Amino acid sequence: MPAKHGITKGSKKERDLSFLDRLYFPGVFKGMAYSFGHIFRPNVTLEYPEKKVVLGPEFRGRPVLVEENGKERCVACGLCARACPPLAISMQAAEMSEDQKERYPERFEIDMLRCIYCGLCEEVCPEEAIVMSPEYDYNFKDRKDAIFGKEKLLISKEQLAPRLNWLEAKRNKNFGEVFEFKKENNVHTLRNRDEK
Ligand code: SF4
Ligand code: SF4
Repeated sequence: MPAKHGITKGSKKERDLSFLDRLYFPGVFKGMAYSFGHIFRPNVTLEYPEKKVVLGPEFRGRPVLVEENGKERCVACGLCARACPPLAISMQAAEMSEDQKERYPERFEIDMLRCIYCGLCEEVCPEEAIVMSPEYDYNFKDRKDAIFGKEKLLISKEQLAPRLNWLEAKRNKNFGEVFEFKKENNVHTLRNRDEK
């Protein structure tokens, strides 16, 4: 008949406990010695949230929209919304009054409860208008608060410079290496926006 805790009496798996083992003190002292041994070692953890880790530009925090010269770069093409696996992005396009061929997102929302920080929206955007920011610590008290609109999403290009520079340096580095390549045709994959 199986004994308590699933150990069958007389089973080969059962370890014979010595008298000291049965007192448990050797195990307790061994554990304490191990803990004390770590007291004088340098910390590998931070006292979050008082202290925050400094993250490099490769970190994928919450996705944000790039604001350039006071307006969004986004042209409301909808590619990011199509690529987003959990369907976290929704938008409403509108035409600019001065140039009806130019579109912009009248409404742009990301449901942060759905976002999985995959970075696919950033990957597909032809305008480098949506990028992953270093921000990771935010919370919501209500499900409605988790839907970030343009007022929370728009961040200036200058603030996002580390990520934008990193993307420029790392993205599609081998583009054009294996086929005839005309740089001017590469408008959707590798574009230095500041190039004239
Ligand atoms: S990071 Fe991924 S899940 Fe989040 S909005 Fe972009 S595509 Fe969607
Ligand atoms: S892919 Fe880029 S330009 Fe197109 S809607 Fe998304 S953020 Fe805007």
